[in-house]
Amino acid sequence: MIRIKDGKEKNLLKHHPWVFSGAIEESSVPQVAGVHKVVTVDGRFIAWGYYDRESHIQLRLLSWEEKACPDEAWWSDTVRSSVLRRRSFFEDKQSGTTAFRIIHGEADMLPGIAADVYGKIVRIIISARVAWVMRSVVIDAIESLLHPQMIILNTDSSFCAIEHLHEVTEYYREGQKFTPTEKLEEIRIRESGLYYGLVPGSGQKSGFYCDQRENRIALEKYVRGATVLDGCSYTGGFTLHALRAGASSVRAVDSSSDAIHRLLSNVNLNVELGTLPPDSREKVEAQKGDIFEILRTIPQDKYDVMILDPPKLAQTIKSLDNAKKAYKDLNRMAMEKIKDGGIILTCSCSGALSREDFRTVLAWSAKDANVEVQILETLGQAQDHPIRLSFPESEYLKAYVLRVIKP
Ligand code: SAH
Repeated sequence: MIRIKDGKEKNLLKHHPWVFSGAIEESSVPQVAGVHKVVTVDGRFIAWGYYDRESHIQLRLLSWEEKACPDEAWWSDTVRSSVLRRRSFFEDKQSGTTAFRIIHGEADMLPGIAADVYGKIVRIIISARVAWVMRSVVIDAIESLLHPQMIILNTDSSFCAIEHLHEVTEYYREGQKFTPTEKLEEIRIRESGLYYGLVPGSGQKSGFYCDQRENRIALEKYVRGATVLDGCSYTGGFTLHALRAGASSVRAVDSSSDAIHRLLSNVNLNVELGTLPPDSREKVEAQKGDIFEILRTIPQDKYDVMILDPPKLAQTIKSLDNAKKAYKDLNRMAMEKIKDGGIILTCSCSGALSREDFRTVLAWSAKDANVEVQILETLGQAQDHPIRLSFPESEYLKAYVLRVIKP
């Protein structure tokens, strides 16, 4: 039985799932990793949690039902429920989306597990020790529900050091682990009627950023006849939507040359399949580059619309101050360079930067750029990446559609 120090239990009673070592009564710290009952100082039940001193979050709460001790059946049921909550994605033939998230970590009550479906393949990313320990139950549950062609599981390299995990990739077919003898083939996924090629198991995050799905659609109404700059384009999520919605030109910039190559092949693919206008290829200029540098050097008033979707600039709370400065500079430069009345779709996927702070940063950018800015739309992560009310940290993607008004 783990006892929580007086005063530290309030958030936990409200279903916040993380308990750091400072909140645990020393005399009740378990000797071995495993599931334990977690109680208040006076012995009142809070939740069942998994304790592991090697984890950077030593105690992770799992179930708040005293009767539901998180055994293997609990894990299996919780995975199953998470997948079934996405039933509408599996059944949606109209928009034809084949890439979506089926487990979104703590927000689906499954700490340290992200799982995405890419057509017939499932990719699982593990970022907590407890998820690593339970992985075979997770794989069996997904296998029996979805019968994917293959499951690829890997540990999240950005968490391996703090969670004391190794960087590992495992492959499963029919629930059995195997070692691929050949390079994995490229697969084709579809999102909102557009096609993207990807090689499962390679690329950033999990190969495709499906958390931006709805924001890509939101962009479409601003780009007809517009000159567009897609900063941090990756493989072209926003670029393809801009082309489909009638942009007059799109300049895509990414620091990764692989991403740029794939973006161009995604444009070609959609032109061939008739999902993009035939002249799309001529309208795109894709280049490897640093968006900070490009914003500094482009001429004034060249673009009507800019998309700023940088990688996570604040990895942790500790790096928040530097990250705020980077977000401020990036947005300030865009506000200075964009045409009067232009639109900026700006994003932050740093969980450590709150929505309020991001808005404050944008307000400073506007002040320094000497412009007025209107928020036209407040956007976030797609609905298959839910935000759990008791766990504010699960709201990581914040985005705004801004209109910039010059003096
Ligand atoms: N908008 C994309 C996802 C962007 S992810 C989509 O819709 O799919 C962030 C991207 O920023 C990554 O592809 C990364 O390679 C790129 N990146 C990182 N630092 C950069 C920089 N300084 N300049 C340009 N691109 C950068």
